[in-house]
Amino acid sequence: MPPKNWSLFFRYLPEAVLAIAACLSLGLIMLPKEKLSRSLEFEPFGYRTDISADAYSGGNSVAEWVNRDVQLWRCQIGQAFKSPYCSMNIRVVDKEGKGLNLSGYDKMKIWAQYKGDAQHMRMYLKNRNPNYYVPGDPISAKYNMIEVPVADLREGLEVRMSDFAVAGWWLVRNNLVLKEAHTEFDDIIEIELQTGSAVTSGVHEIQLKKIVWSGPIFTEVALYRGMAITWSLLIVGVLLYRLLLMQMEISRHKRYQEELVAINGLLSLQNQKFEDLAKTDHLTGLLNRIGIRDVLYDGLTQWKKSQTPFSMILIDLDHFKQVNDTYGHDVGDEILKGASAAFKNIVRKTDALARWGGEEFILLCPGTNRVQAVAAAESLRKRLEAEPIFQEIKVTASFGVATMTQPDLDHLFKSADEALYKAKKRGRNCVVTDARLSDQHVH
Ligand code: GH3
Ligand code: MG
Ligand code: MG
Repeated sequence: MPPKNWSLFFRYLPEAVLAIAACLSLGLIMLPKEKLSRSLEFEPFGYRTDISADAYSGGNSVAEWVNRDVQLWRCQIGQAFKSPYCSMNIRVVDKEGKGLNLSGYDKMKIWAQYKGDAQHMRMYLKNRNPNYYVPGDPISAKYNMIEVPVADLREGLEVRMSDFAVAGWWLVRNNLVLKEAHTEFDDIIEIELQTGSAVTSGVHEIQLKKIVWSGPIFTEVALYRGMAITWSLLIVGVLLYRLLLMQMEISRHKRYQEELVAINGLLSLQNQKFEDLAKTDHLTGLLNRIGIRDVLYDGLTQWKKSQTPFSMILIDLDHFKQVNDTYGHDVGDEILKGASAAFKNIVRKTDALARWGGEEFILLCPGTNRVQAVAAAESLRKRLEAEPIFQEIKVTASFGVATMTQPDLDHLFKSADEALYKAKKRGRNCVVTDARLSDQHVH
């Protein structure tokens, strides 16, 4: 999968998780409770079972096995005790000594066979709890009791666990009427099946076949609590996940920004380089015509604003064609470079020196009047004359100096050019100023 789809996947992952969780929650809430139930099946075989009658209470009823292998027993009710009874006791404690935990079940279905004329039968689920149970005293276990109609037992009789009640005689006997009147099923150690309370006489044949307890896998409270906890954790998880994504996004943006800044820096550096290249004469390294354009316009502006003097010196190498013709073009180039270097060395920082074209140079002198400009030209002339540029070749130049007298650059150029022309005429290697300043011939 390409990375773009992955990032989409991670972006919408929380929504997907929440949607799935919402569907599951709805499903759990809507699902019929029977679908989420569990059951415990009990058959009374293989347990320690005994039968007894009311002799203990002074009665003369008789309980006896008809067929012990199938738990079939019989009770002959006697008249000696005023509430006669017979019982079958099944000890349901397992090998580790644990009783049955029936607390999670809300229903119970009993199958039994009965022959006789009684209407009801009684069942006890006896619970053990250190609060009241005394080991060795079977009657100290809590007697959760229910009385059921015998007629329905053959087909299976379903009762609710909430229909059980703690036997009144047990509460009285143990003096626990207030504290322990609630039923309890978490540690059942014995199941007792007894003749009903209304039985007075006759023979009763009883066979317990099966008991099945059933109830929800989780109680409604546990279900909703579980959901509440799951949803809280999910929401916190989603928020943390979003925070993490946001932080990643922010740091990615920061990285992009840094990259952009770096690229910008590089571009502006490159721009600067191109600008410098465009303003530079490649042979001599001096400015070219474009390079001094700003200085020219600045000079004009300053003159217009405050009559700040602005002078221009045009320089033309003397007999350069001859040099080229005699020594070759390459030597001519060397001389051009040497002359440029010689000028550059003594030009003031505020002045702008450029190669105007061919063997012509221009020096712009802002804030410089005619006299000062003539002096500057003269020092350039002297310097060039004295400079050993290439072997024995003597290189000189003629200088035309002009100073701005009106807001017109063309006029200034023309004046400088005329002065230069005059300098050539005067025999070269000299400085001439423009117009009215009495054609100063310095050399
Ligand atoms: P003048 O004293 O009157 O200025 O004489 P000149 O020979 O210097 O004048 P002209 O204008 O006739 O000749 C200029 C020569 O400069 C022509 C050309 O061969 C040469 N030149 C112009 N640009 C370059 C260059 O870039 N390199 C070289 N080597 N020579 C150049
Ligand atoms: Mg020339
Ligand atoms: Mg020349």
